[in-house]
Amino acid sequence: MRLIFIGPPGSGKGTQTKLLSTRLGLSHIGTGDLLREAVQRDTPAGRQAKSFMAGGQLVPDDVVNTIVAEVFAQRNRSDNFVMDGYPRTLHQARAFDDVLRRFGFPLDGVILLVVPDQEIIRRLSGRWNCPNPECNATYHVPLKPPKVAGVCDNCHSPLMQREDDREETVRMRLQIYHDRHAELLDYYRKIGLLIEVPGLGDFETIYQNIIHALNHKKGQR
Ligand code: AMP
Repeated sequence: MRLIFIGPPGSGKGTQTKLLSTRLGLSHIGTGDLLREAVQRDTPAGRQAKSFMAGGQLVPDDVVNTIVAEVFAQRNRSDNFVMDGYPRTLHQARAFDDVLRRFGFPLDGVILLVVPDQEIIRRLSGRWNCPNPECNATYHVPLKPPKVAGVCDNCHSPLMQREDDREETVRMRLQIYHDRHAELLDYYRKIGLLIEVPGLGDFETIYQNIIHALNHKKGQR
């Protein structure tokens, strides 16, 4: 199965794409992960992407398209995959169409996880992480607060907030998401690939919504 997964930042698309990947045996291809890795390894693409990511802005299309094309150019590419966070613009969708055509990989669907903005702001701006690489604990205020405010329960390191999880940055990321995705969603809607799935509730409920929607779509063919 070949899927694209679209959802606002903080919609749970990372969790759901990883579930789809492990339960259905699909390769998980996440451009956020690929870009963070490129920044960490200080590659040319990482150096180009860094400031855009820290400011909550989209990385330029050409940088992301190149990273994705490189993944598909590898000999051990999988022909079953779920794309997490790519494409995010119409320009990226067209570039991805070219890649898929080159390998004869038609898509089965484009899943859109629908979550209201207020819920996203509540979820994301409460996230705090332990920066200690040997700990990496995650917290959420008010859903899963640390015992002492701002301090990791496990290793007592001061907690940090990802720069792009600050409330002002989250609002800006949502605005960018809505602006940029309108034409992208239209594009996939017009070619009959878009599948809208409600993204509220626990992760298992949302996962079952996705499977149900995919089966429904298969039944329509
Ligand atoms: P994510 O982990 O998917 O929320 O992505 C984190 C950040 O990486 C985003 O805020 C963007 O700065 C960048 N990014 C990830 N995927 C893309 C993409 N397809 N196009 C442009 N920027 C991206």
